[in-house]
Amino acid sequence: MKKLDFKNKFFTALAMTSFLSLGFIACSSDSEEDSEMADIIDGTDDGDNNGSSGELHAAFAEFNEGNTDIYLDGSNVVIETNGLPNHTTVYWGIGEDLYIDEPDVDLTPSIIPNYNGEATLRVPQSPELASTSTSTNMGAIGIAISGAAIFNDQEGNGALNEAAASLDYTGGHIGPAEYHYHLEPTAWSEDDENLIGILADGFFIYGRKCNSTGTYPTDLDASGGHISTTQHTTEAEYHYHIENELYLNQYYIIFPGDYQGTPNAIN
Ligand SMILES: [Zn+2]
Ligand SMILES: [Zn+2]
Repeated sequence: MKKLDFKNKFFTALAMTSFLSLGFIACSSDSEEDSEMADIIDGTDDGDNNGSSGELHAAFAEFNEGNTDIYLDGSNVVIETNGLPNHTTVYWGIGEDLYIDEPDVDLTPSIIPNYNGEATLRVPQSPELASTSTSTNMGAIGIAISGAAIFNDQEGNGALNEAAASLDYTGGHIGPAEYHYHLEPTAWSEDDENLIGILADGFFIYGRKCNSTGTYPTDLDASGGHISTTQHTTEAEYHYHIENELYLNQYYIIFPGDYQGTPNAIN
């Protein structure tokens, strides 16, 4: 009889615990973790926290394979780069395979092999526009398909014009961080619709023209973005374009705008 009593109490306690935890889950389902737990319990796990879902966006096939490693991690895409450009520039330094002489460039005192430009960017597989835009910071704001970094329209804490003379033929330089582009990277894109790279908010950026019309888009927002098809997708999606406005009467800045999505760290 005593034993049975104990058993009853045990089961009552167990039932109470189950009831309480179910109640807890039901009452706090607006928190991400708990809704994940509820999904697992009711069998509707959407895969947010485990395994890979879907395929890489077709645009990622254009990223240089030697310099980047791109893969899915759950619902995120991870873009790892060694930070090196896959094309010629004076900034490789004499003796390197991709070094070329550029006598007109007012060189900064650094060369690519002296910097570790390794970086990782993790973005949602399906990035979304944010309700408010976010200004860009110093340092990398994106990763180009060449493997090197994309910077904004500032140099140090000043305007780009102070450093313009140090930019190589493809709008890149070192000064003083890793090799990076400020301008239309003519090594692979000049007045065309080619893919330039991906920005920290997960949206791709293309050349000055758009594949959807074959010419300069006329419906761009303040950041040079719009929603249309591209050469990489038949479904219209948000993407940016290089600003088709001359800076200092001779340059096209890659991205002078604000992020229209939510920026992620590049480090
Ligand atoms: Zn710079
Ligand atoms: Zn477009």
